Amino acid sequence: LNEAPRVALGEFDLIRRYFARPVVSRKDVRLGIGDDCALLAAPGDLELAATIDTLVAGVHFGVDTHPRDLGYKTMAVNLSDLAAMGAEPAWAMLALTLPTADGEWLAEFAAGLFRLAEEHDVQLVGGDTTRGPLTITMQVQGFVPPGQALRRSGARPGDLVYVSGDLGAAALALRWRQGAAEPPDAAALMERLDRPRPRILEGRALRGIATAAIDVSDGVAADLGHILQASGVGATVCVEDLPMCEAVAAQVELDGNWDLPLSGGEDYELCFTVPPEREADLQDVWRRFACGCRRIGVCEEAPGLRYALASGDLYVTAARGYQHFSGEA
Ligand code: ADP
Ligand code: MG
Repeated sequence: LNEAPRVALGEFDLIRRYFARPVVSRKDVRLGIGDDCALLAAPGDLELAATIDTLVAGVHFGVDTHPRDLGYKTMAVNLSDLAAMGAEPAWAMLALTLPTADGEWLAEFAAGLFRLAEEHDVQLVGGDTTRGPLTITMQVQGFVPPGQALRRSGARPGDLVYVSGDLGAAALALRWRQGAAEPPDAAALMERLDRPRPRILEGRALRGIATAAIDVSDGVAADLGHILQASGVGATVCVEDLPMCEAVAAQVELDGNWDLPLSGGEDYELCFTVPPEREADLQDVWRRFACGCRRIGVCEEAPGLRYALASGDLYVTAARGYQHFSGEA
């Protein structure tokens, strides 16, 4: 009686109906949804990369978020973590806590989730379903050749700092959703917020080229900060080199600062470091990707993250993320 009640009505029907769907059927899944455990044939010659994320209603997403977007994003944020390590996705598990077993909501949520799962050959192999305040936890696992995972800790002084795609679009969309004036190209911006593209292929291509990598979820200022701290180096970033779409560039002009691309967050791009002698290889492998990649700065021995203008003058900002690691003198 002290236990939280399970979803009373049709818990197993619910699982069978919405989640035990053969959208993706991988050979390395010996037993998927339906027993006490999933049985997974992990390749003996690869390392397993595992990550988990929890999304809480009212904290990580608004209660009015469309369930299809929620399903998509649950998968996307996890895949983005695998991308940042250069791992190839394989399996997912889903722990769902639901206030009610609403079939329409579940159908939409599953559709969003499976869309991305199918695209990246990820099989949902199990999970847990309980009743309570809406909370979504997903774990994904993938593979990476031994020693080839892209860690945060490998950046060295002289390495060049790169980002994929462009920055600030999701944050600009969020500003609009939260009441700011409608930006130009609003529909495209909304797409960037609700359906970020995890950079899986890009991350894999960076194996053996990048010395460190991270996915940009909290803004490049904060996330590059994590690379710098883990690597024991510093960096200078040229704010005028930050890649931005037209709408974000226009807003930066209006704001009179680069906070949006630096610390807006939710970009789900990759930020990575590359030794200068590997830049040609980077350009070479990146040719096949639709999103660009852009050099934004350089790693240095002096710890901390500094910003500069193209003129070479320092650019001073309190953009969040900077404080996390600027404890040095
Ligand atoms: P147990 O009680 O043994 O933990 P459950 O009754 O929770 O098993 O789940 C039955 C089966 O359904 C298991 O294979 C479990 O992994 C799977 N499952 C439960 N909830 C979900 C979900 N939300 N998504 C995918 N699989 C689920
Ligand atoms: Mg269970």
